[in-house]
Amino acid sequence: MIQADSDSSRRVAYFYNRLIGKFHYGKEHPMKPKRIAMAHSLIVNFGLYRSLDVYLIREAQLEELKKFHDPEYVTYLSQYMSENKVNFVKEYCSTNNDGVIPENLLEEYRLITKWSQNKNTKNLNSEYKVGDSADNPTFSGLFSYCQFSAGASIDCAHTILTGQADIAINWSGGLHHAKKKEAAGFCYINDIVLCILELLRIYVRVLYVDIDCHHGDGVEEAFYLTNRVMTLSFHQYGDDFFPGTGQLNSVGLGVGRYYAVNVPLKPGISDGPYLDLFKKVTSRVMETFRPDCVVMQCGADSLSLDRLGALNLSIKGHGQCISYMKQFGVPLILLGGGGYTIQNVSRCWAYETGICLGQTIDEPIPSNDVYYKNYGGDYHLHFPIQKNVENKNKAEDLNKIVSQVYDHLHNLENAPGIHFHDVPYSFYPNMELEKDEDDKMKMDMKQEISLFELEKNLGISDEANEISVNSGSRKLHSKES
Ligand SMILES: [Zn+2]
Repeated sequence: MIQADSDSSRRVAYFYNRLIGKFHYGKEHPMKPKRIAMAHSLIVNFGLYRSLDVYLIREAQLEELKKFHDPEYVTYLSQYMSENKVNFVKEYCSTNNDGVIPENLLEEYRLITKWSQNKNTKNLNSEYKVGDSADNPTFSGLFSYCQFSAGASIDCAHTILTGQADIAINWSGGLHHAKKKEAAGFCYINDIVLCILELLRIYVRVLYVDIDCHHGDGVEEAFYLTNRVMTLSFHQYGDDFFPGTGQLNSVGLGVGRYYAVNVPLKPGISDGPYLDLFKKVTSRVMETFRPDCVVMQCGADSLSLDRLGALNLSIKGHGQCISYMKQFGVPLILLGGGGYTIQNVSRCWAYETGICLGQTIDEPIPSNDVYYKNYGGDYHLHFPIQKNVENKNKAEDLNKIVSQVYDHLHNLENAPGIHFHDVPYSFYPNMELEKDEDDKMKMDMKQEISLFELEKNLGISDEANEISVNSGSRKLHSKES
């Protein structure tokens, strides 16, 4: 049964593209983009999409990615192709077609020749950490996958900045480990940093909150030296757990000192103590920093029974973090992230989409859901957390963390940096604010897709009722009134 709370008036923008679920890191790899398609399917089948403004994700352009990432790294990713593909095209051209390169492969062949003649390719793989380890493999469509994820997070910022939404959601985003010129932890392009940079064109202060099981190192690093972005990460820490950063005393540098907040946790923490800690820390952060917008990375590997993480949250506990941030009434962007027991990830993100709409879903999985068999056991939206898991975080340790964070934040109370009200013209020197913001919003999608295809893409072909172009991403469906 779906229950609506008294706060269902927020306008929620939701970004999706059917293609996202098709990308594949490899059979053994724990990162499965399919979980985004599974979450979407639940959002459609629970009827939540009726209350959402639905946008079709577009691919971010190279120039947009270069606003944070090193231009050569972006070029490298955009031209990368797997060794398999190189061999296939080469072999095809030499053994078929009498040695004549078919016209449709000419461009590919040109790129491949250039690629294989580049003696530095192998060095670049290791320099950029792409394809040289099991963590960050190359796979078919890798760059498009990055472009989709980033395009949606950038457009989440656009819908918030233009007042088209109070809350914007991109479950295909949240790739928080990617660095300026390096892939890390299954992440190649940092959509979160790009989203925040977009927000900083207009907003003075942005708060980043990360509840993924892993430390949000890529985002922290990007904003470590600024007082305009506060990064706050709750994560498992210790015993060589990836990425190994995010200690309590990592607080930022220069004017950014005390604008990085870290809450390192030991395994086994469950809803009660986690939420107590989360509320104590975020309430003080909101009071001290007073952000114009909150960007939240909702990695679901902090859930119980995750394949990689060892925290012990339930879906309801994870979701309460979102409800808590929502009640501050500040514009909110929700992004995905980690999450490796995929049938729990999809349930969690569908549930949290409901929270944004003020609708609580708590019922069996609709039996017509195309992924229904993945929810075996009780076929319910909520799953029981792991019993008999020891919470290795003692109450006194958690209290110590809170008081240490309060001490750090206390240093900001009289800091000049957080009292200014002028909107700066630009944040980074080469990030000029476009004179006509509207032009920016009309950024066209790479190719025109027919209305029918757009609707079919979202699985809501019978019900899409309003089509308009609002930002880079195309709006397919408006909230039903
Ligand atoms: Zn993670």
